[in-house]
Amino acid sequence: MSAEAVKVIVRCRPMNERENKLNCEAVLSMATDIGQVQLRKPKAKDSPFKLFTFDGVFYTQDTTEQIYEDICFPLVEGVLNGYNGTVFAYGQTGCGKSYTMMGVDDPPANRGIIPQAFDHIFDHVAVSVGTRYLLTASYLEIYNEEVRDLLGRDVKKRLELHEHPEKGVYVQDLSSHKVHNVGDLGRVMELGSKNRSVGATLMNVDSSRSHSIFTIDIEMVGEGASGLRVGRLNLVDLAGSERQSKTGFEFSGNSYPSFSSSLSLTGLPLVDGRSTHIPYRDSKLTRLLQSSLGGNTKTIMVACISPADNNYDETLSTLRYANRAK
Ligand code: ADP
Repeated sequence: MSAEAVKVIVRCRPMNERENKLNCEAVLSMATDIGQVQLRKPKAKDSPFKLFTFDGVFYTQDTTEQIYEDICFPLVEGVLNGYNGTVFAYGQTGCGKSYTMMGVDDPPANRGIIPQAFDHIFDHVAVSVGTRYLLTASYLEIYNEEVRDLLGRDVKKRLELHEHPEKGVYVQDLSSHKVHNVGDLGRVMELGSKNRSVGATLMNVDSSRSHSIFTIDIEMVGEGASGLRVGRLNLVDLAGSERQSKTGFEFSGNSYPSFSSSLSLTGLPLVDGRSTHIPYRDSKLTRLLQSSLGGNTKTIMVACISPADNNYDETLSTLRYANRAK
């Protein structure tokens, strides 16, 4: 995949209350103007920094609005011109994936990428002349290799993946919902998120261990000969990247296919070369995203990290993973 098609950025959240209480030391610094992250081993002041360079780095005071303007805006513009776009948030639980994707209302500058994308899409639709739009949304969850429809009648029902000769891999019976405005999108998203946590409770599982994909399909019909264009935006909330054993969750057996050939397609390096830690060896996730990551696709990966010394190992592993996705 060309460098242009995948953009990897890193966002460092501020120290949280617990880290402050523990008097944690910040082991991370950033040179935001040159996209550089410097990570220092705890209690090793004189040791050299580990240096990483990304397409964008955002430090504690930077806002989601900045991330959107710099990085996400062009991707969503692409979707509105008939391309596919995928945005991932990646990182250890508690490092800001939801904060970045879903965001907070106050301050408005930290509204999430998702609501900002919703506004962006409908602002564009509102001023377009001569094009008719049909927008639909779907929302699924993958937990332990099982796919469920977060907007379906039965959130516990398992869905199957199938392959269409032209459209590629799709989820059979996944419901899709027409949306006419930002309010509709927000409601659909909210319903799915509620179902996600209700489902997790029903099945007695931890939703931070599941992946979810919110997909917006945009069909554009132009006047005259310009015909039909279709754009797709995938907003992916990946499970926490920390080692599974930490939360007591384990994948069942070794039934995961080798991803070596599909890695470059998804932009997701699935195997951490330094250890046996394999954060996303989820074959359904890979298969699904592969189908929407063809030639005309752009991908953004937002790696979320903490600045605190006690997260050094996880932070290093997130940075290495992100580095390999470039
Ligand atoms: P995750 O989704 O990765 O598990 P969250 O997004 O829930 O993590 O973030 C954990 C906590 O840290 C939340 O209370 C969130 O509000 C806070 N937080 C995360 N990122 C930031 C940030 N950039 N600025 C301020 N607070 C943040």
